[in-house]
Amino acid sequence: MTRHCAYCLKSIEGDEIKKCAGCMRRTYCSRECQVSDWTSKGQSHKIWCKDNIGEEDIDWEVKETEGKGLGVFAKRLLPKHTKIMVDRGYRTIKETPFEFINSLMPHGGTLQEKWDLNSFFTKEGGDNLGIRLARVNHDCRNNATNKFIPDLNSFILVAIKDIQEGEEISIQYYFYNDFSSSKEVRDVRESVIRPKWDINCDSSCICKNKEIIDSIQKGHELDELIFTLPIRTEDDIRESLKKVDELIEMGEKYASGIMPLARTYYDGFQIAITNKNTFPLHKKYIEKYLEACEVIDSKHSSNYAEALQYYNTPHLHKNSY
Ligand SMILES: [Zn+2]
Ligand SMILES: [Zn+2]
Ligand SMILES: [Zn+2]
Repeated sequence: MTRHCAYCLKSIEGDEIKKCAGCMRRTYCSRECQVSDWTSKGQSHKIWCKDNIGEEDIDWEVKETEGKGLGVFAKRLLPKHTKIMVDRGYRTIKETPFEFINSLMPHGGTLQEKWDLNSFFTKEGGDNLGIRLARVNHDCRNNATNKFIPDLNSFILVAIKDIQEGEEISIQYYFYNDFSSSKEVRDVRESVIRPKWDINCDSSCICKNKEIIDSIQKGHELDELIFTLPIRTEDDIRESLKKVDELIEMGEKYASGIMPLARTYYDGFQIAITNKNTFPLHKKYIEKYLEACEVIDSKHSSNYAEALQYYNTPHLHKNSY
């Protein structure tokens, strides 16, 4: 079986294939690549080796897909919440190996054009390019979602539903169903991303579904309301938590992925702990929050460590917002 070097992405065969002795899954073309992958700053295989992350050629493969250039396809059933891949984030063109960036779309474009098309803007880390992640195409009915983990300098790609063998793995490039953004922000994002990637949806696409669009809008209003409702009395708090539960229910139905949900779980936790009578209610929110962090983050990230602290010592976090 042909494999790819997990560090330099070169295709390798037979004797050339060197396996990580830890997981026996990740492969390299050379000792140098293995050492670099293990010790590199930020995203290093040392951190992820024991986490059973998907690997190229075993769990997924890169293939040509009609009209879209390259795409990433499942090589086996990838159950919901599988961590499909973890990818290093590059912050500048200079830092990115030339062959990597040169292999990206648009064909014949300048490095700057390739960077502009493929890099992701991350709230915490500015522009970041994940070479493997750049091959994952957009679908409004995405079956996976991605997150950047700044302290590990890594992108993670997670299945949000069962992905069948042979199915293309997809993410969303513009989150039309993001409750946390206003309609204006969503519209701007869409108007930039659609032409950039030539995403044309006809009226039957899920992103044009009126019921869903209205629900997203309602979800956004609810999200804003939760922040402005008073939480002075016990009755206030119970009223706020009702809104939180309503938003969670909508999120579980319409949001793609777990990130917007994670934030709402966290809000529920913060609101519940402000009063001693509602304090016990925090448990269900923090449990879900921790679970979400486990799915979409790494147990080695500072975000997860923080979530664990909230979980273990909730009473200490009362005034933290
Ligand atoms: Zn290599
Ligand atoms: Zn390993
Ligand atoms: Zn669409």
